[in-house]
Amino acid sequence: MISKPSMRPDSFVVKEQAENRTTAPHILPIYATSSFAFDNLDACIEVFRNPATAHTYSRYGNPTTDAVARKIAELEAFGLGIEAYGIMTSSGMSAISALLLGLLRSGDQLLTQGNLYGGTTELLADILQPLGVEVLFINLRDLDQVEQTLRTHPRIRMVYAETPANPTLACIDLKAVAQLAHKHDAWLAVDNTFATPLLQQPFAFGADFIVHSATKFLNGHGNSIAGVVIGRDTALTRQRIWRTVKLIGANCSPFEAWLAHNGLKTLALRMERHSANALALAQFLEQHPAVARVNYPGLPSHLDAELARQQMRGGFGAMLSFELKDGFDAALRCVNRLKFCSLAPTLGDVDTLVLHPASSSHLNVPRELRLQNGITDGLVRVSVGIENSADIIADFGQALEQ
Ligand SMILES: *Cc1c(COP(=O)(O)O)cnc(C)c1O
Repeated sequence: MISKPSMRPDSFVVKEQAENRTTAPHILPIYATSSFAFDNLDACIEVFRNPATAHTYSRYGNPTTDAVARKIAELEAFGLGIEAYGIMTSSGMSAISALLLGLLRSGDQLLTQGNLYGGTTELLADILQPLGVEVLFINLRDLDQVEQTLRTHPRIRMVYAETPANPTLACIDLKAVAQLAHKHDAWLAVDNTFATPLLQQPFAFGADFIVHSATKFLNGHGNSIAGVVIGRDTALTRQRIWRTVKLIGANCSPFEAWLAHNGLKTLALRMERHSANALALAQFLEQHPAVARVNYPGLPSHLDAELARQQMRGGFGAMLSFELKDGFDAALRCVNRLKFCSLAPTLGDVDTLVLHPASSSHLNVPRELRLQNGITDGLVRVSVGIENSADIIADFGQALEQ
């Protein structure tokens, strides 16, 4: 005889309940939940009327993600007596997209520099311009040109700056540019990815918005993609940028935010070591016979050394680039011969990373345009890690041997 399967009990459902007996967790928990439950409809109505007071749905906000955003905003506002508001996003690019889409409208103009992060330049040219926002690329280091352009283009609503900038680590005078922007009713937004708030606080110089690729130094370990937008004016940032993040769905996953948060704990230690190692490598390369030029804001020979000293503190960061006397072939040979340092198209990790822009990130950029922005055939970019500096220098030493 065949036995019948036992009957499924009538009530098999256990209501999901949080465990309330524990004390507060020492480490930020990951809230892997899409939504949040309400005690009753009145509580639900109250939160939907006033979404800043509680969590409803993780695209609107999530306790893990929001805690990380708050911490980064506090770092950017540290010691300045301002109350900044941060929003984590799915990537640095979505942070920049939410900033631009939230604040600019068709007919507005945006003033920026030619040597931005490549993805940002493409976003401005291929997504923002077709939506009716005209983008003006000038040299933001030239303050007369900034003033002149702002004066003759009253529809400029935002100046967007990156400092230090790829690949020559050119610096922009944030205080001067903020003053000019404000005089002409424009906001100043700054991509602070390279410096991090440890080395440079754009709010101190008058910036209105800051964006980061949290994928880079804020995380530091190369294991997540995330971004953050921080606004000096909380109400405006919530109304225009938080709403945009919510509606375009650019929210950060709590897992990725949590990984970035782990990295934040060592940010100060890492930036100190990155800066010391980068300076040591820059000094080594500068006296090397195969090297024509080294771009590092911490070297007295750098074009913007004086400005970097005023605007940055505690170090000049991990990023440097250098040009080989024998051009393209010499650069390829050097990169290929490195044993210890990795060839990878990212930056800001604890490991030393190298990139030959002319044959990778800028392969599809016309040579003339590339040269205009300082990306010569023999240029090598380095994101100096936190290893023992003697090991990094020894690797470059053997790679550059004739
Ligand atoms: C990497 C990077 C971005 C883009 O960030 P993602 O996290 O890759 O989207 C933007 N700006 C700078 C300066 C970057 O280095």
